[in-house]
Amino acid sequence: MDFSVSESVRELTATVRRFLDEEVLPVERLVLERGLGAGGVEIERLRGRVREMGLLAPHMPKEWGGGGLPFLDLAPLSEVLGRCIIGHYVFNVQAPDAGNMELLLHHGNPDQKEKWLRPLVHGDIRSCFGMTEPEHAGSNPVWLGTTARREGDEYVLDGHKWFTSAADGATFCIVMALTDPGNPNPYARASQILVPLDAHGFEVVQNLAVMGERGEGWMSHAEVRLTNVRVPVANRIGAEGAGFALAQERLGPGRIHHCMRWIGICERAFDLMCGRAATRELSPGKPLGGRQLVQAWIAESRAEIDAARLLVLRTAWRIDREGASAARDDVSLIKFHTAGTLQRVLDRAIQTHGALGLTEETPLAFWWRHERGARIYDGADEVHKTSAAKKILERYGMKRTKE
Ligand SMILES: Cc1cc2nc3c(=O)[nH]c(=O)nc-3n(C[C@H](O)[C@H](O)[C@H](O)COP(=O)(O)OP(=O)(O)OC[C@H]3O[C@@H](n4cnc5c(N)ncnc54)[C@H](O)[C@@H]3O)c2cc1C
Repeated sequence: MDFSVSESVRELTATVRRFLDEEVLPVERLVLERGLGAGGVEIERLRGRVREMGLLAPHMPKEWGGGGLPFLDLAPLSEVLGRCIIGHYVFNVQAPDAGNMELLLHHGNPDQKEKWLRPLVHGDIRSCFGMTEPEHAGSNPVWLGTTARREGDEYVLDGHKWFTSAADGATFCIVMALTDPGNPNPYARASQILVPLDAHGFEVVQNLAVMGERGEGWMSHAEVRLTNVRVPVANRIGAEGAGFALAQERLGPGRIHHCMRWIGICERAFDLMCGRAATRELSPGKPLGGRQLVQAWIAESRAEIDAARLLVLRTAWRIDREGASAARDDVSLIKFHTAGTLQRVLDRAIQTHGALGLTEETPLAFWWRHERGARIYDGADEVHKTSAAKKILERYGMKRTKE
């Protein structure tokens, strides 16, 4: 395995790091102090600068207006962007748009790509992804209540979704809905259907209060209701009944995007923790970092972040070489492992800061609120652990069992 980064990617990452430190971090401060709305104009100006650099949607092919980076080259860039709470959005590689772009790129038809993918890559519109429902366990992705009934050339959708991230202000939602609820194969019952948010009957009921914040725009998580929503059959992405397979395919790369970003968060938290430990004195001349308990947090964090990065790079390397489905087990491992690392590193960094760690003077409290979900979204830890363990045990002769 070769994880070496080319000279051009090294230079690119250094340029992005400078841009982030000099121009994006001041806007992050504004958002932390006064909220996303206060930073809105500045964030759009920064996106314009990134567009000029040719780096908007760096994971998308250049022919669609992206930066054309493969996963292994994207990893260091994504890590740098993860250092800042608005980094990924400024580069238009934030969830759920990044995953929706990949889905449309690989499974959209030419008309869908022109109409929805191009403006999405260009950052002119935003999108969301509606799969999870309050009435059904999201951990069982084939158990859904939302239906799409076919009437002539149209689907008629009815259902209830929640945690539809970034629905507030989005132009379209990719909705998972049952098109063949009676199919004996549960994996063939659903399809993915693109629904414009201005379609009659599509209602963003509310932005949910999540960890004490209602959120807004791309930082929100909505409850959504669909009542008799009519869209052309041509809005279906991929084949009828392929919804589950497409969701799996979409979530694989989506999870690695999150892991790359989490490592960036870990590195910033680590810098903050070490800076504070080295300079905060418990008594004159006695820095906090002189205490062995704090030293243990620092050493453990360093080892855990480096180990997580290597696992993520191995997964990126495999996706680039063998495709997303070949790397499914690796993705399960990095999803829970990196999320756990993130949570431990953030916790130690906050603890090192004492009460300061709970204020908005650093991004630590923001991440503590926003990233507790890392162990739940895109598959809870337990789902990934059991899936990885079952595959391992099968290699030891354990038979597949149905639960
Ligand atoms: C911040 C955030 C953003 C999200 N964004 C989106 C989005 O944009 N679009 C979307 O469709 N969804 C989104 N989700 C929903 C997310 O994908 C689901 O929350 C997730 O799939 C878990 O489903 P659930 O919440 O219904 O939990 P449940 O399925 O009810 O599970 C509850 C708990 O049970 C445990 N559990 C589940 N399965 C097992 C098992 N096999 N073995 C042992 N324990 C198990 C886990 O600890 C799990 O946390 C988001 C969630 C969060 C938190």
